Amino acid sequence: NGPTLGNPQNTIEILQKYQFSFQKKFGQNFLIDTHVLDKIIRAAEITKEDMVLEIGPGIGTMTQYLAEAAGKVIAVEIDRNLIPILSETLSMYDNVRIINEDVLKLDIRKLAEEENQGRPIKVVANLPYYITTPIIMGLFEGQVPVESITVMVQKEVADRMQTGPGSKDYGALSLAVQYYAKPYIVANVPPNCFMPRPKVGSAVIRLTRHDTPPVQVKDEGLMFEIIRASFNQRRKTLANGLNNSSRLSYPKEVIAEAVEKLGKGPSIRGEALTLEEFARLSDILSESRH
Ligand code: SAM
Repeated sequence: NGPTLGNPQNTIEILQKYQFSFQKKFGQNFLIDTHVLDKIIRAAEITKEDMVLEIGPGIGTMTQYLAEAAGKVIAVEIDRNLIPILSETLSMYDNVRIINEDVLKLDIRKLAEEENQGRPIKVVANLPYYITTPIIMGLFEGQVPVESITVMVQKEVADRMQTGPGSKDYGALSLAVQYYAKPYIVANVPPNCFMPRPKVGSAVIRLTRHDTPPVQVKDEGLMFEIIRASFNQRRKTLANGLNNSSRLSYPKEVIAEAVEKLGKGPSIRGEALTLEEFARLSDILSESRH
């Protein structure tokens, strides 16, 4: 008993049995390395008390590991050609529910409500890379009760989520992720752990949700608008980025004054500011409105 997938032979066998052909547009790269699977499961710290949401189960490789560890697994897969395969590979588990749906169209908050009485869920996935950011931001911003997100992403994206000011990878995604969660890169994963092999390196990252945000800000929406505007034009100064934003409409003088109040010179760039400083800048600007 136990998981049967997670190695190249069994993966090829099941794919051939169903004459499955990979769909590039769905970002299908299936895991074929049991060590990586073990690492993901360990990092996610799943217990029998947990409900796990898996996004994109593929042929059910990681789902088998999750079903062994969790109380319940909900697996959301967009590709209907994978559904008959999943019925076979997961037939020995009675704690798995498969939903054939686009995860971006699914009301995950409602799902957690119905399936887990609104208690926080854990998200574990080898994500389809083309929608990494909308999936993660959707979970954080959509008021889904999530305790942690442990996911395989493109290595470069993992770096962007984890880094701070001064790094070339620092940007709006770093700040958004770090406002909601504490990132931790669990492992780097080379292309040969997947079938077919992706063109990019991958990494497993765990995002543990903060109980309360690490900074206090009066208007969250405004802060994220400011963050977006200041990283829109990387080579420009913070003040220029804010002046050129179509969604913020502060007079030049107000922006210049706010930057000064923050204790920064006029040539400061957005990429030098910490989350704390963006929060303070946001509060200064939101007061200037009135
Ligand atoms: N979990 C499997 C594994 O590790 O072997 C497959 C991972 S593969 C990188 C990503 C999976 O997400 C594919 O099965 C793909 O069909 C599915 N997928 C892609 N877009 C999706 C979407 N919008 N909603 C749900 N699943 C999606």
